[in-house]
Amino acid sequence: MNRTILHVDMDAFYAAVEQRDHPEFKGKPVIVGSDPKGGKGRGIVATCSYEARKFGVHSAQPISQAWKLCPQGVYVRPDMEKYGRVSNQVMRILLEFTDMLEQVSIDEAFLDVTGSAALFGFGEEIARKIKRRILEELKLTASVGVAQNKFIAKVASDLKKPDGLVVVEPGREKEFLDPLPIGRLWGVGPKMESQLKRMGLESIGQLANLSHSDMVARLGKNGAHIWQLAQGFDDRPVLPEEGIKSISHEITFEQDTCDFALLEATLLELSEKVAHRLRSQGVRARSVTIKFREADFSTYTRRISTPSSVNTTEAIYPLARKLLRSLIRDGVPVRLIGVSAGNLEAETGGRQMILLDQPPQKDRKLAAALDDISQRFGDHAVIRATLVPQKANKGRLQ
Ligand SMILES: [Mg+2]
Repeated sequence: MNRTILHVDMDAFYAAVEQRDHPEFKGKPVIVGSDPKGGKGRGIVATCSYEARKFGVHSAQPISQAWKLCPQGVYVRPDMEKYGRVSNQVMRILLEFTDMLEQVSIDEAFLDVTGSAALFGFGEEIARKIKRRILEELKLTASVGVAQNKFIAKVASDLKKPDGLVVVEPGREKEFLDPLPIGRLWGVGPKMESQLKRMGLESIGQLANLSHSDMVARLGKNGAHIWQLAQGFDDRPVLPEEGIKSISHEITFEQDTCDFALLEATLLELSEKVAHRLRSQGVRARSVTIKFREADFSTYTRRISTPSSVNTTEAIYPLARKLLRSLIRDGVPVRLIGVSAGNLEAETGGRQMILLDQPPQKDRKLAAALDDISQRFGDHAVIRATLVPQKANKGRLQ
């Protein structure tokens, strides 16, 4: 069945919110990010207005470089709480058009509006309504891509920014993609881009015209993945967040403890439970958080983003352990620890679509075997060697 997918992406989001709330910033190069400290500042640009982009400023650029390019810019520290509130307002508008909404970042979401046509019209009409509502109610602009799948909708939303609307009619995907540069393909970073260019490939169309086996021979699994995208093929579903925003497990110790070996072993067990649930729900996580409560009920959380999505103990535990080490204070007893996995994304949608994010083969095989055993014998059937009690003094905090 044909699907209709929208990708809605707010334009220069943080900078646009600041320009809206400070009319004196209108028409000026606004740079939201770290303190530039007269060019000596460390840190980066989070977002900048379109006026600033004309000077060559862009997000993720060192703030010192932005200062060099545009010393006359308006430099603003980010107000994440405010942007979070505005983001919620945007998402509430989008949810009026469909429940099938997958928020992918603070200012971006996919909507599957296939079932909404009877109520709200076809894709393009819904996109226009959404843009109008966001402009009228929030005084902000969004760019929208409309297509049969997520990949094409995402490329489309980015093509005519700001305030863009690009519709790719079913059957015209190839025509749309062919002239675009290969860097538009998901999973093609700068390194692979130059590799492809050395092969004489500049446009998506040139790449799409190679045979599948040729791409696999040259680039392995990654080759298969980008070849699929270049054909305009992407069957990943829009994954509404319903219910699961994160998966977590925590434990309160019967007696507060300073025993580092015990804390680590417990953390491993919790990581294993979280990983098992991620796999059984068919999702993968892009962040790991630990929660940590001291005997006096002071509670801390620390989060780390993962470079690629994870769903195995082997990937989650080392991160959780690193966070634990950064939180723990010598001699302060611990009452509770917890592990949670967040920023979830679907595992489903064609095996070839997730190859780039997959953990090493060994991890996956081990994980599958462990899932199998715990399904048959219950959660406690498998205890990793490191969970076996260690020598009493080992790792104990002094
Ligand atoms: Mg955006």
